[in-house]
Amino acid sequence: MRILVTGGAGFIGSHLVDALMEQGHEVTVIDNLSVGKIANIAHHLGHERFHFVNDSILNATTLERLVRQADLIFHLAAVVGVKYVVEDPLNAIIVNVRGTENVLELAFKYWVRTVIASSSEVYGKSTAVPLREDGDRILGPTTVPRWSYSDAKAIDEYFAMAYAKKGLPVTVVRYFNAYGPRLDPRGYGSVVARFFTQALRGEPITVYEDGRQTRCFTYVADTVRGTILAGTVQEAAGQIFNIGSDREIAIGELAERIRALTGSRSEIVHMPYTSAYGPDFEETRRRVPDVTRARQVLGFEAQTALDEGLMRTLEWFRREEESGS
Ligand code: UDP
Repeated sequence: MRILVTGGAGFIGSHLVDALMEQGHEVTVIDNLSVGKIANIAHHLGHERFHFVNDSILNATTLERLVRQADLIFHLAAVVGVKYVVEDPLNAIIVNVRGTENVLELAFKYWVRTVIASSSEVYGKSTAVPLREDGDRILGPTTVPRWSYSDAKAIDEYFAMAYAKKGLPVTVVRYFNAYGPRLDPRGYGSVVARFFTQALRGEPITVYEDGRQTRCFTYVADTVRGTILAGTVQEAAGQIFNIGSDREIAIGELAERIRALTGSRSEIVHMPYTSAYGPDFEETRRRVPDVTRARQVLGFEAQTALDEGLMRTLEWFRREEESGS
């Protein structure tokens, strides 16, 4: 198949590209390298089945040319990571709403099956754990920039479902804290990256608040497998799926595990959210997916145990640190 991956130079996108190339597809990536990195896809450059376009999904002319040639689209291009969103909410809203609107409008015009990458952030601070796809969203006020990401992704989902209602085969995946090799070592997108970098450098490991807030970390190979199933299983069209592990871990415990795995002597320090995100910040205390629908419709279940995934991630971070980046 000819597959278009928007955001294919990003963390999850580039792993998706690896899997699709491995399966023998013809893959085109559009990425403006704002969050993504050319290093993530450098090993495919020059391959006859691989094409890279360095442009934004806001450029409708470029996008139209690419969508017209695609049999399947995975739309992952977005401004992601709480820190990016909090720092520049305007850019995040524009890219995350208008970008998806562009992709879906063109997918509808050329009738191309599409998977839209959404996020567990859409649940906001809902406490109805485990979070079901049809559960309520609970958000704070619009003065708290974090929730703009949740709403932008929710608008994307509304667009997707509206097109699905018109018959377009479109599927939404809600990712739960993906981690693995190629996470941005500056830790912008993930606490896992921050803790590894801090531990390997012997710097304090910064646990926010009491560290009892939880997440379900999902190894990126599992995230990618769920994404491909969402784009290929017929009954998935018109549906929304949680894609993640349902193994919950407290952030304080994650810090301990990463310190032990790396053999680091870093001290674990607790600090308030406000020191990182400013005064207007609200946190999600527990985030656990209900994985029933993904299991039943996609036959998907996350398989990689946290320790195994963290080991593989550590190998990559060690190499990065040694190469001095
Ligand atoms: N976190 C932390 N220390 C850090 C960065 C993050 O304790 O240096 C916590 C954060 O408060 C949240 C969890 O780790 O509870 C996951 O944060 P991340 O930014 O990875 O993703 P989120 O799930 O919040 O989008």
